[in-house]
Amino acid sequence: MNTCRVRFAPSPTGIMHIGNVRTALLNYLFALKNKGTFILRVEDTDQDRNIDPQVSIFNHLTWLDLNYQEGPIVGGSFGPYFQSQRHEIYQKHLVQLQELQSVYRCFCTQEQLEIKRNRQIALKNPPRYDKTCTKLSATDIAAKLESQTPFFWRMKIDETQTISFKDLGHGTLNFDLKNFSDFAITRTDGSFTFMFANCIDDITMQISHILRGEDHLTNTVGQLTIMRALNHQFPTFWHLPILCNVTGKKLSKRDQGFSLEDLKNEGFLPQAILNYLGIIGGSFEKEILTIEELAQAYNFDNMHTASQIKYDVEKMKWVNHKWIAQTPIHELVQLCKPFLAQHYDITELLDEKLAILIGSVQTDIVILQDVCTLLAFYFVKPTITQDQIDAAIADQSTSQSIAKILKDHADESNFTDFFNAAKKDAVTQGIALKDFFAYVRLMITGSPKGLGIAELEKCLGFEEIKQRICK
Ligand code: GLU
Repeated sequence: MNTCRVRFAPSPTGIMHIGNVRTALLNYLFALKNKGTFILRVEDTDQDRNIDPQVSIFNHLTWLDLNYQEGPIVGGSFGPYFQSQRHEIYQKHLVQLQELQSVYRCFCTQEQLEIKRNRQIALKNPPRYDKTCTKLSATDIAAKLESQTPFFWRMKIDETQTISFKDLGHGTLNFDLKNFSDFAITRTDGSFTFMFANCIDDITMQISHILRGEDHLTNTVGQLTIMRALNHQFPTFWHLPILCNVTGKKLSKRDQGFSLEDLKNEGFLPQAILNYLGIIGGSFEKEILTIEELAQAYNFDNMHTASQIKYDVEKMKWVNHKWIAQTPIHELVQLCKPFLAQHYDITELLDEKLAILIGSVQTDIVILQDVCTLLAFYFVKPTITQDQIDAAIADQSTSQSIAKILKDHADESNFTDFFNAAKKDAVTQGIALKDFFAYVRLMITGSPKGLGIAELEKCLGFEEIKQRICK
């Protein structure tokens, strides 16, 4: 069996955000690089907060083309891949821990725990469970069970011990367990906590490497006490630096570009999002990279660790711009269509024509939705003011002469004759061609810069061009 097994383990409790995507990506790259297995596990133990994982996770991973080899839908030999369906597995491991006397029942109520906690905080002590329930005698316990006092199971931590494990970013990390609290592994209703379910899944799914956010570092220490109790070999970890916004604060819902859905709706390409998330936090000679190139470029044995990584949407736009510029035109047409359709009626527009239109502005598209403004001239005839004309051609008599020349040739039967004749007149009258072109373009598109005149004619046709410039 392959020894490299990594997993992406999202909780379907909120939107898929850019931090999740980065975690998924790094796991994917790690598997790719090490010819390992990339697994999706849905951590849906918090039933009240679950939103539909079909929409929030599977669709997004498919869109990103981060395909997993084991997980929901595709299956695998370590399923089920939804935590909500793994209760029996957890129960079995709880029994093992009971037999090993590594766990104990805690009868403390939430109120009691809260009071103790506040007292410790007031005394400036780290809030840790005081192990009251480890002191209960067998008779005390029997009495409480008899009276059906609610309880939950806690992991017993031996505070004289330490935990050491390997982290790809930090090297070997050592933690004194005296700083850790006996933590809950079940709830009073018999359900299992994240700490326990997540760890038992990693054990039973034989996960070899755990790549997840640095915010899980404390959980890791607790979870390794479970692994140690169950005599399971520790996986290797990589605690990933947390993504921050440009001001250095932890990325939040309020930050632009936080939600993957928003990025998709604005017209970021999946390749560009992954490319950008792959290069931040590292230094790469070449910055525009495919997934395969990223996997090659990563050296997981030598990951230097930044404490935080800045997520900068502007830089991601730059990456997106590069990806759009290199997208084959027939693909770009398909990508742009839904955006255009939101603003204009494109039902009659053939793909060939769209290819000319989009091709002519391709290098100006930063995010796909830009195509709507860039091609607005095609769908809506621009209204040009005298101020716009003056801004493009400083001398009013020049612009008036150009307008007259164009009108004079309006009867030509085809565009080439019309345009050449007008151009010739302009030259004869000493008009700079730069001004002549700027005027023609302005009248057609509303901007003196941009598309070549021949392209505009291809898109709009001679009649429409005439309408716009010979009024
Ligand atoms: N469900 C956890 C989360 O979304 C998974 C953490 C892990 O990867 O272990 O944060």
